Amino acid sequence: MKRLAVAAMAALLLSACDEGPQRSPLATEGVTDAMIAAGNGEEWLTYGGDYAEQRFSPLDQINTETVGDLGLAWSADLDTARGQEATPLMHDGTLYISTAWSKVKAYDAATGALKWEYDPEVPRAKLVDVCCDAVNRGVALYGDKLYVATLDGRLVALDQKTGAVVWDKLTIPEGSQMAITGAPRIAKGMVLIGSAGAEYFTRGYIASFDAQTGDELWRFYTVPGNPADGFENDAMEQAAKTWSGEWWKLGGGGTVWDSITYDPQTDLVFFGTANAEPWNPAHRNTEGAGDSLYTASIVAVKPDTGEYVWHFQETPEDRWDFDSNQQITVTNLEIDGEQRRVVMHAPKNGFFYVLDAESGQFLSGKPFVDGINWAFGLDPETGVPDVNPDAKYEVTGKPWIGIPGAIGAHSWSPMSYSPTTGLVYIPTNNTPQYYMGDPDWEPGTTGFQLGLDVSGGNFPADTEVREMIKSGLNGALVAFDPVAGEVRWKIDQPTPTNGGTLATAGNLVFQGTSTGAFKAYTADTGEELWSFATQTGVLAAPMTYAIGGEQYVAVLVGWGGVWDVSAGALGGGITPNVSRLLVFKLGATGELPELKATPELVLDPPAPAGTPEQIALGEKLYSNSCSVCHGSSAVAGALNPDLRHSSTIGKPDIWQQVVHDGILSMNGMVAWKDQFSPEEIEAIRLYVLKRANEDKALEAGQTTKVAGR
Ligand code: CA
Repeated sequence: MKRLAVAAMAALLLSACDEGPQRSPLATEGVTDAMIAAGNGEEWLTYGGDYAEQRFSPLDQINTETVGDLGLAWSADLDTARGQEATPLMHDGTLYISTAWSKVKAYDAATGALKWEYDPEVPRAKLVDVCCDAVNRGVALYGDKLYVATLDGRLVALDQKTGAVVWDKLTIPEGSQMAITGAPRIAKGMVLIGSAGAEYFTRGYIASFDAQTGDELWRFYTVPGNPADGFENDAMEQAAKTWSGEWWKLGGGGTVWDSITYDPQTDLVFFGTANAEPWNPAHRNTEGAGDSLYTASIVAVKPDTGEYVWHFQETPEDRWDFDSNQQITVTNLEIDGEQRRVVMHAPKNGFFYVLDAESGQFLSGKPFVDGINWAFGLDPETGVPDVNPDAKYEVTGKPWIGIPGAIGAHSWSPMSYSPTTGLVYIPTNNTPQYYMGDPDWEPGTTGFQLGLDVSGGNFPADTEVREMIKSGLNGALVAFDPVAGEVRWKIDQPTPTNGGTLATAGNLVFQGTSTGAFKAYTADTGEELWSFATQTGVLAAPMTYAIGGEQYVAVLVGWGGVWDVSAGALGGGITPNVSRLLVFKLGATGELPELKATPELVLDPPAPAGTPEQIALGEKLYSNSCSVCHGSSAVAGALNPDLRHSSTIGKPDIWQQVVHDGILSMNGMVAWKDQFSPEEIEAIRLYVLKRANEDKALEAGQTTKVAGR
């Protein structure tokens, strides 16, 4: 009997070996599984603060009584003038950050002295594959290593002490349009990461890598591939029933670009998936409607194997870019008198979901913002949305002004959860959006693949109308009660895409704003107690740590991201980009250097040219391909070149060299010759030239209405 058992054991071990690379033993020194599981205290060891991603700190030296004495302890200027979205980590007296362009820096957490820095040297041409700036949201720590995932798709392990590269692996398919902006997470000796880019040709996945060796252990795809190639698993076979036509040719989307949560209690990994690609379902499910699983969903898999356990699709058959990638927070809640292990989620679609962590069962889904118009509500039993038929633009053939829009009622900006108040603190957006299907759309080669024509949503050259539209685009800090499904308090903010939040046992919530302030509120009532002028918009979430009996609060500042690059005069350039790491403690009195004034540029374009047909074609092409970086209606934000000011708009030959041939590809402006003909590229120039002249007239105080509006 015993020999039989041994033989059976040996066979089991052998078959386990056959399944993939051997896993290294768990870390016993440095940052261990037990330390991450213990959660926040004096250190901050993982992106969301602890495995549960609650972003709550038990530290309370800084509290409602003392926060008035909070001041700048030290700051560090960063060498990347782009959006900063990372949450710092702190271990053993060192503060680790990632910055735009996936760089990593390590500082003495008490003094701010730079210990080391690492630059993965991401090719700047990669910018064409990212919707939302060259951002990076953070690093991971495990054992004696630090992990950063780079914009060009690599996962890199560095020595925590020196920053020396230990290993460097490409994780996206070679030559793929995928990118990585998210923070890697640790689970059971593995590093987990997905990729971004569900607006491009991508097939989403989450993958697991051995923390010691970087060997890939498993990869779970979020959308099915070509059935003719066979399905990787049953989950893909089931998912394929919710697609039609030849969806795999376009990739399908569903990327895992932000949330990954490992829950030791259920021993599950939860992750959120992006929209289906292209956005317009008529161009992906060409032979009939379908839910397009597992896009716009939360999916649970087993950490050891990547095997599917459950999924919950928040936005079936998404057509509005309602990614479900927002942070997934785990906790225990008492619901109807019963203790439940739950996942909490505030996705782009505007409903706050509470699901059973073990089974994915829908427990509740209530709006956390006002004005949602894509759905009349959710089925109270199943959570399936009652979709407004008018929102199906590909069916009606009419434009749809959706609330929320693609920016989302809440996006990646981290929320926090205080077990003390029982409230979730969500940075929310109010950004209605114009959607219109393009029945004639054909897949391109470069840039966005949406299946839409959004040129009808361009704003007119009329100051009053612009200001009116702009006033309807704003944000709020919302304190949401996940048990009652109600907003408890709310701070209105004049602009969207404000920073992530931190909740502490000092009854405080910290948040930076897109208009350039870092603030502290009482967690129970939302009373503003403290504010610091950051000189630049804040996107990232703060964190806190303690050294030598002193509590510190750290936050990355630096305006940029999706709203700056895409929203044009309605939201770009809210503040200049001043990229810094700011660290605060009680009694400190540090000051920032005086802000340099940004020079005012005066529009001085050559005279308009071209036929109305050329300009109309140029407007369509610009709106659907160029506006994502250079701004809606050819008005850029703070980061990317404003083409209205470019001397090339008066020089057709040089314009062709830039756009057609890609002579500025080292700056991120790649060649578009596979996508556009020289005639189309000229049409785009004529449209930008027209826009420059319209806005020149505006600047001169001569409001000009655009014909036809
Ligand atoms: Ca998306």
